[in-house]
Parts: sequence; structure tokens; C-alpha cells
Amino acid sequence: MQVTFLGTGDSMGTPRVYCDCEVCGEARSGGLNRRYRSSILLETEGELPLLLDCGPDWRRQMEAICRRGIAQALITHAHFDHIGGLTEWADACRWREEKGRLYAPEEVLREIVSRFPWIGGQLSMLANDGGMDYGEWRITPWRVNHGKNGYAYAYRFESKKNRRAWAYCSDSIHLEPEQKAPLRGLSLLVLGTSFVEENYPVETRSVYDMREGVELAAETKPGRVLFTHLSHDVDVRADYGLPANVSLALTGMTVSV
Ligand SMILES: [Zn+2]
Ligand SMILES: [Zn+2]
Repeated sequence: MQVTFLGTGDSMGTPRVYCDCEVCGEARSGGLNRRYRSSILLETEGELPLLLDCGPDWRRQMEAICRRGIAQALITHAHFDHIGGLTEWADACRWREEKGRLYAPEEVLREIVSRFPWIGGQLSMLANDGGMDYGEWRITPWRVNHGKNGYAYAYRFESKKNRRAWAYCSDSIHLEPEQKAPLRGLSLLVLGTSFVEENYPVETRSVYDMREGVELAAETKPGRVLFTHLSHDVDVRADYGLPANVSLALTGMTVSV
């Protein structure tokens, strides 16, 4: 499977509109830290591309990869930075006279419909609680703690050919032991870590920081780790002394799993 990072930013993206910090300045001048809201594009043999999350930068992300349409998407949770582009995607489907397929766990679909009651007219809402097939891959969502924000879902991808597995877990913190179980045996873990070290009271936090992400990786032992969902606190040019198998996802990069 090919995984392309269309966005690697946190809920506000980088630069943050209100902010004049050094990283935001570098991002503003078109630098390496310019980050759209987190989203990836999946491609596998014999299947149409599958978008994972559809935030408010969806339109620019589609332009960046020169795609005129997308047939299907998976959603992790119904926060604005992950679903803000759904209305534009739905509108695009209307103009293209096609119906997009939107996959998410039942409770996420319900939240999306309560936000955008008309959206079912252009997008088929398909619950994937029990998992779904994508070419040679079995995709299974699981519920993860999202701190002060409640819960989100993460996705595990398992090859039916060779037991290869990887996971995308963009919005989580303080995972319970049973929530960590799907992180075992991965060749790649894509993990959301918004800050380098987030020294705010624990009850106000909602996403792992990089230091905790390194600990989680040491515990679950994936072959490779890519941090995403990065806020303006993270400078992709800096050397954070990360372990050799851990690095930062960059906008536009493609990895094969
Ligand atoms: Zn998020
Ligand atoms: Zn900033």
C-alpha cells in the first residue's frame, strides 16, 4: 500500500493565524513547516484511492496532488479538523454526479449527520465498526482515548496475504492496555503527537506529545514510527534526538507499507 501524507498538522494547522512564532514564520514563508490538517491518501492495487480524514484543508490538499475527485473516505472522529472538508467533498460529488462512500464507525457517522443533516444525499454513509476490506487489506477501527475531547478511532490495516500490519492513530492519549493491543506487531505506526513536550495539566490535554510517543513506541515496538498531527511547537528542521526508527511525517511524502 502507498500512504501519502496530505496533511500533518494539528487542529489549527501551521502557521496558526494568530501566531508570530519562529516556526509559524518559517511556515508562512512557504517553508518545510507549512502543515495542512492531518489526512492521508491510501492506494493499493486494484482499488480506488481511499482518503483517511477530510478536514478543512481538503480542497487545497486535492489541488496539491492534482486530483479532481475522490470516491471514498474513512473518518477517525467527528472533530472539525478531521471532517471540515466533508461538505465540499459532498458538493464536488454533486457536480460530478456521483455518490461518494464515507466509512466510519456508527457513532461517528451519527455525529457527522447531526452536524450536516443533508450530507447523506451525496455521500453514502457506511458503518465500518466490524472492519472492511480494501484490496488485500483488512481495515479495522478501534476506539481510543482522546483525553479532554472524549474518544476518537484509530485504524489497523492488516494484509490478508502476508500478515503485514500498520496503524494510523492520529488523535489519542493515555491509551488503556486493551487500546494498545492493536499496536502490536506493526511494521509502521503513524502516531499523532502535537507537541514536543506538552507541559499543560493532564486534564486539559487530548493528544500524545513526542516524548510520550517515543515511550509508546518503545513499549509496542513497531518497525517504524512516523509522528503526525504536529502543532507549531514542532520544527521539522530540528534534531530532537529521536530513536533511529522514529521520524516526523512531512507534507507530501509517500511511504510504502
Ligand atoms: Zn485532530
Ligand atoms: Zn506559532
